Amino acid sequence: NRRIVLANRPTGQPDENTLRLETTSVPEPGPDEMLVRTVYLSLDPYMRGRMNDAKSYAEPVPIGGVMTAQVVGQVVKSNIEGYEVGEYVLNTSGWQDFAVSDGTQVVKLGKSPDNPSWSLGILGMPGYTAYAGLLKIGEPKAGETVVVAAAAGPVGATVGQIAKLKGCRVVGIAGGSEKCAHVVKNLGFDACLDHRSDDLAAQLREACPSGIDVYFENVGGKVLYAVLPLLNPFARVPVCGIVSWYNLPGLPDGPDMGPAIMGTILRMKVRMQGFIIFDNFGADVYQEFVRDMTAWLKNGSISYKEHMVEGLENAPEAFNQLLAGGNFGKMVVKVG
Ligand code: NDP
Repeated sequence: NRRIVLANRPTGQPDENTLRLETTSVPEPGPDEMLVRTVYLSLDPYMRGRMNDAKSYAEPVPIGGVMTAQVVGQVVKSNIEGYEVGEYVLNTSGWQDFAVSDGTQVVKLGKSPDNPSWSLGILGMPGYTAYAGLLKIGEPKAGETVVVAAAAGPVGATVGQIAKLKGCRVVGIAGGSEKCAHVVKNLGFDACLDHRSDDLAAQLREACPSGIDVYFENVGGKVLYAVLPLLNPFARVPVCGIVSWYNLPGLPDGPDMGPAIMGTILRMKVRMQGFIIFDNFGADVYQEFVRDMTAWLKNGSISYKEHMVEGLENAPEAFNQLLAGGNFGKMVVKVG
């Protein structure tokens, strides 16, 4: 049984001292427990926060603890009634090959689900984040302009596609021409801009001639500063993530943008709301999501892309790639 534990809390980008691969014996399930083998491991930007010992919505991973993650696994031994060997489950057992579970926080996925790994992406946490954050906080209306960055990733790509279904003009922002081409051609956004270009602010102004009504915040940084002067009165800003700052050990260099941000919120009467997907919305919203997303995937109105990496041992490198934009689609590690 291999597992990846947090060896040291990183300052800045995680390096070779941050995580450690350990080998232990495969655990034995006791009475009313089962043994689950990881098949797919989800890598998500929030995991960078769990490496820090800071006040947050969740406890940090302790030093020596297995890195947190959702996984899709298969039951290999079961002493729990209702769980059969071979069936797929969604589990929260983290970066490891095997884990014993008593069924707490486990979701059954059946014996032969069509796309088991999608429960980590479009039909799981990132898809639900895009759906609830956009529709319940962003409240987009037909004809409005919606802007979202990390537009080729699972959250951003889904936000933009749902906004198109709601009749909005959608402008994506992504890293590089290949991602931008995908976002426009395959996902149907009206435009997509490269956040690395020097004149991002001017390009965004041109792409949003009627200003911005909904800015779905995934990244912070330069993108946020380009968006600020374009926000319309009563714009909505669901604050989902600020990935461009996750590796920042302190405050960024450059001018203090606090007054510009607060001034815009005040003068433009902007409603900015942070959310953590499993804390903000009730079971009714989750059921709406499952119903709508299943239908959209079936009728082809939403498309979904994964970036699959082979091997648990490659997870640390893949995680750094994810934070730096090296992924093209939902980052998943195939472990089994
Ligand atoms: P992605 O797969 O989209 O990965 C993150 C992407 O961020 C990278 O691929 C990269 O794309 C982009 N990025 C990195 N640095 C920068 C930068 N400096 N400027 C602009 N873009 C950058 O991740 P997810 O779709 O899983 O998550 C998107 C956001 O949603 C994250 O902030 C995440 O933390 C947040 N989130 C929040 C949840 C909540 O409950 N609040 C739940 C789930 C996700 P590119 O190559 O295009 O630059």
